[in-house]
Amino acid sequence: MELTTTDRPSGKQAKNPLVMAHEQFDAAADLLGLGEGLRKLLKSPARQLIVSCPVKMDDGRIEVYTGYRVQHNLARGPAKGGIRYHPSVTLDEVTALATWMTWKCAVVGIPYGGAKGGVVVDSTKLSLSELERLTRRFTVEIGIIIGPEKDIPAPDMYTNPQIMAWMMDTYSMHKGYSVPGIVTGKPVEIGGSLGRREATARGVMITVREACRYLGRDLTGMTVAVQGFGNVGSIAAEMFHDAGAKVVAVSDVFGAIYSAGGIGPHAVKRHELEAGSVVGFPGAEPISNADLLELDVDCLVPAALEDQINESNAHRIRAKLIAEAANGPTTPEADKILRDRGIFILPDILTNAGGVTVSYFEWVQDMATFFWDEDEVNSKLERLMSRAFKDIVALMDTRKVPDMRTAAHMLAIERVAKATELRGIYP
Ligand code: NAD
Repeated sequence: MELTTTDRPSGKQAKNPLVMAHEQFDAAADLLGLGEGLRKLLKSPARQLIVSCPVKMDDGRIEVYTGYRVQHNLARGPAKGGIRYHPSVTLDEVTALATWMTWKCAVVGIPYGGAKGGVVVDSTKLSLSELERLTRRFTVEIGIIIGPEKDIPAPDMYTNPQIMAWMMDTYSMHKGYSVPGIVTGKPVEIGGSLGRREATARGVMITVREACRYLGRDLTGMTVAVQGFGNVGSIAAEMFHDAGAKVVAVSDVFGAIYSAGGIGPHAVKRHELEAGSVVGFPGAEPISNADLLELDVDCLVPAALEDQINESNAHRIRAKLIAEAANGPTTPEADKILRDRGIFILPDILTNAGGVTVSYFEWVQDMATFFWDEDEVNSKLERLMSRAFKDIVALMDTRKVPDMRTAAHMLAIERVAKATELRGIYP
C-alpha cells in the first residue's frame, strides 16, 4: 500500500497545519493581551531551508527528493525537533510542526527552541541502501544549519534510531570526530539514552494519569482506542494495557482492529512484526480508521497524523478524553465542537512532550559524556511532565481559561515572550 497525501478520514482537503498553529497561537495571544510586534515575531519562523537531495537508486536512476529544515524560534536555546519522511510533507507542515516544538519545549521547561525537518518521500518504497543514501545526503544538505549547539534533529514519522545513526555518522565524518550530540533518538550503543524509545508513550501515560487524578476518573478498566501503531502508538497501547486499562482498538495505515473484550497490544505487536500490519490479528474484527476515531471509549489516543479529528467527524466522536499523542490531530474547528460537548482534550504540546524531554536528557548525557540509568531518566521525565500538567491546570484555574490547549499555549508563549524581551531585538 502506498502512503497517500490525503489521509484525512473524511477524504476532504486537509486543513493547512500552519493555519491551525496560527489560530491556536492567536487564541492564546488574545487572552494574554500580547502586543502586535511580539505576535508577529513569535509567529514567524526564524529560518526555513529547502534542499534538493539527489539519490542514486539501486537500478542506476537518479531521483531528487525535496527536503526541509525549519527553525521556528531560538530565544530559549538551540532548535530541537524531529525529521519526518512522508509524501505529504510540505513547507507549511514542517513550519507548523517547528512552531509546536517551540511551545512544547517551553511548556515542559527545557532550554530549547523549536525546529522540524522533513523529506517528501514514501520511504516504504525505498530499499535500505537507498534510504541510507537519502538520509546521508539530506544530513549534508541541512548540515549548514544543524549542529549540537545550534539545531538537534530526532526521529518522527517514518524515521527511526537507524536513520539517526546514519545522520550522526554522516555529520561526524564531515567533522572528523564523533559528534553524538548532533541528533537524539540514536541507538543506545552510540550515545542514545536509555528510556528514549519509550519516552513519548511514557509521557502520554503520565499525562493521562495526571488527567485522571484531576478529573476524578479511574485509569484501571478505562477503555482505550489508539490510532497509529508506530513508535508512539504501539508502546502507548502496551503501557495502557500494563497499567490496567482495556485497549479495545488499534490501527495503522492499513486499517484498524477492534474487540469489545480488549485486545492484547503485546500480542498485536508480535503479529504486526510478522505480518507487517495490525490488520488480520486473530480474535479482533476489522474496522476502518474513521470508525476507530468514533468508538464509544473512555480515552481516544490519536498517534498518527494531523487533522484526524475535524469539523466533519467531531460531532460523532464519543470518547470522553482525547490524549493527543500525535502532533496536530485536532483542528481548531473540532476543538470548539468537542469542548461544547464536554470532551476533555489533553493537547499535543503537553501530551507528547515526553519524547523531546528525554531527547533533551540524551543530549545532556552526550554533551557530558556521562550516562544515566533508566530509572534516573524515567523519574526525571515523570517530574517534568507532572510539573507541566500542574502548571497548565493552575493557569486554567487562575485565569479562567476554558481549555487546556489554550492554557498550555499561554504558558509557553509567556515563557518565550519573556526570553525574547530579556534578550532584546538585535541590533
Ligand atoms: P511512526 O512512523 O513510528 O508510526 C506512525 C504510525 O501511524 C504507523 O503505525 C502508521 O502505519 C500509522 N499511520 C500512518 N498514516 C496513518 C493513517 N492515515 N491512519 C492511521 N494510521 C496511520 O511515527 P511515530 O514516531 O509513532 O509518530 C506518530 C505521531 O506522534 C506523529 O504525529 C509524530 O509527530 C508524533 N510524535 C512522535 C514522537 C516520537 O518520539 N516519535 C514525539 C512526539 C510526537
